[in-house]
Amino acid sequence: MGYQVAIDGPAGAGKSTIAKLVAKRKGYIYVDTGAMYRGLALHFLKKGIDPEDIKSICEACKDVEITIGYENGQQQIYLNGENVTGRLREEEVGNMASLSSGIPQVREKLLELQREIARKENVVMDGRDIGTSVLPFADVKIFLTASVDTRARRRYNELVEAGEKCDFAQIADDIAKRDERDMTRDVSPLRKAEDAVLIDSSDMSIEEVVEAIEKQM
Ligand code: C5P
Repeated sequence: MGYQVAIDGPAGAGKSTIAKLVAKRKGYIYVDTGAMYRGLALHFLKKGIDPEDIKSICEACKDVEITIGYENGQQQIYLNGENVTGRLREEEVGNMASLSSGIPQVREKLLELQREIARKENVVMDGRDIGTSVLPFADVKIFLTASVDTRARRRYNELVEAGEKCDFAQIADDIAKRDERDMTRDVSPLRKAEDAVLIDSSDMSIEEVVEAIEKQM
């Protein structure tokens, strides 16, 4: 069993930026579990399945393989052997991931893969249920959050920098909806594990958050 750092929190809290930095500084592997849900979501979309069609999503889970690998230290997601990493941040994929991740069969499909990686390597793993469900005995558990306004502002700036047209109110509304879905679903809802350390990054720099986590290690 490797050393396990679990980072959970809502969308846009900065989990991936922070987790990547902590992993790099410690020489651990960064595991982005959201990308795995997005990989499966892409599979459902490729099959033309409607996000509300639970029966077809369950059926589609039977004949799919998600695997991960690393290129130049960057996590890659393979869907039935094809590297689909470049497509995972699409809005449609994120929406399908958010909706389908509440289905038990979808979560089961990815749970073993996530645990297997943590058995073999020292990991910094981020997601929604890492400290509560995937790695309940993690050495360090962090619940990273920030206000909806801060998270929407960060996402808005990211999109503007990428040259995309976007609407701040719409982004804030999407984030609030995703949080609500993640927190109220029946299986593995997003919540702080009792033994997790809460970090609110609203008024913290990236470096401050990284240092706060390293202090726990
Ligand atoms: O973190 P990211 O936005 O990439 O995750 C995409 C979706 O996957 C989230 O909206 C969430 O519903 C789901 N997810 C999850 N459990 C995880 C990671 C992500 O349910 N451990």
